[in-house]
Amino acid sequence: MKNIAEALNLRSVILQNLESVLFTTDEKEKVALLTFVVVGGGPTGVELAGALAEMRQLILTKDYHNLKSSEMTVYLMEGKPKLLSSMSTVAFSKAKEFLKRAQVKVYNGVHVKSYDGLTLRVDDGTIIKTKNVFWTAGVKGVFPAGISKNMITKSNRLQTDGINRLKGHSNIFAIGDAAAIITEETPEGHPGVAPVALQQGKHLARNLEALINGEYTVPFKYKDKGSLATIGRNRAVADINGVHLHGFFAWILWGLVHIRSIAGFSSKGIIFFNWAINYFTKNSDNRLIIRPFDKKTKKISTGIE
Ligand SMILES: Cc1cc2nc3c(=O)[nH]c(=O)nc-3n(C[C@H](O)[C@H](O)[C@H](O)COP(=O)(O)OP(=O)(O)OC[C@H]3O[C@@H](n4cnc5c(N)ncnc54)[C@H](O)[C@@H]3O)c2cc1C
Repeated sequence: MKNIAEALNLRSVILQNLESVLFTTDEKEKVALLTFVVVGGGPTGVELAGALAEMRQLILTKDYHNLKSSEMTVYLMEGKPKLLSSMSTVAFSKAKEFLKRAQVKVYNGVHVKSYDGLTLRVDDGTIIKTKNVFWTAGVKGVFPAGISKNMITKSNRLQTDGINRLKGHSNIFAIGDAAAIITEETPEGHPGVAPVALQQGKHLARNLEALINGEYTVPFKYKDKGSLATIGRNRAVADINGVHLHGFFAWILWGLVHIRSIAGFSSKGIIFFNWAINYFTKNSDNRLIIRPFDKKTKKISTGIE
């Protein structure tokens, strides 16, 4: 649910900025409004950059007749030397190739230093004027007062033992994105992805029962069922049990995995049907922004005053 709300919010921000382009006569502002910078080259950043590139190619000129695809620029900035650092080298090189084909400007080994709402500065000296910056370089947990600082890791997660129990406490537990089980095998904790949170939830429930019944607890072990990332339509990369897939088959697999995790047969059917329509029509609905009409001035609010 959280990701759906985030996606809708993101979509409305993008649409509002594109709409603002139509109301500006300032050339510099137009360029900034049409420049999109995604910070963080993990699966979320790669998917978002791919989706923006696809929007430029298929949607921009259809919905905004005065704009040209070539006027919109998409950047992807990643601090590590390669994208998708949790995935294989094959996945990285294919993702980079797909992004290049989609004309996304990929920067590796650079860190975004500052952004003041217009000027984005990168540590290699690059300066980009943009009104659209999307942070996908990690989330920060917000912890209640009383949690001591030495329980919080460098990546701002709560350090727990193998059964997700907070360091130094017998009755406080943390799971999912907010938790980090630091071991030699996982020096930075487990990846912040949904399967980790789901598996830890189930595992902790069993361990809590064991603790109540005075039985042995079992340390958490993550069962990595594989990783997938899409880069626009027909393109995805997948690492499943040492097998590396890319392109159309990986993209179909991505769709099947996501449909499978939707609750209820009818919801699965509706989503599949919508996806199929969007795929064949190369279109997507709900792109309208309805603005209040001022009867006195007989003007539609631009939403940018
Ligand atoms: C844009 C985006 C795309 C992603 N895509 C994928 C993907 O494709 N595949 C994948 O596996 N993972 C993906 N992830 C990561 C995945 O969403 C997380 O790993 C997963 O949701 C972690 O689950 P969680 O229960 O730990 O935290 P969350 O899902 O974040 O749940 C925490 C909940 O706690 C609530 N909360 C926070 N503070 C308080 C408080 N003080 N009191 C009460 N409630 C509070 C929050 O509102 C939230 O609902 C994505 C993440 C993002 C941001």
